[in-house]
Amino acid sequence: MNKIQQQYRKRKNIYLALIVAILGVIISFRILSPSGRHTMNTLELFQTAFLIVIIISIFVIFRCPKCNKSLVSNFSSLWGKLDYCSKCGVELNQKKDR
Ligand SMILES: [Zn+2]
Repeated sequence: MNKIQQQYRKRKNIYLALIVAILGVIISFRILSPSGRHTMNTLELFQTAFLIVIIISIFVIFRCPKCNKSLVSNFSSLWGKLDYCSKCGVELNQKKDR
């Protein structure tokens, strides 16, 4: 495994952790928020801000280690089976059958 692949793997793990964090925030929204229509309280405001920060960090962090292209859309459209960068073609995943 070369440096690019190691870096990609690290970024992918952070990306997946952030996705889990988003799900956690969404679930906490449902659990902690009072039901029915109401004005936004401080907690919900904080959760919304946190959600936005996570989404921005995903796009900032999850990039190609070589050319810096954002990999979020490619990664999600291929269901995580992203082996090459679509811009510079660098190999992101080490092939198992080698
Ligand atoms: Zn690239």
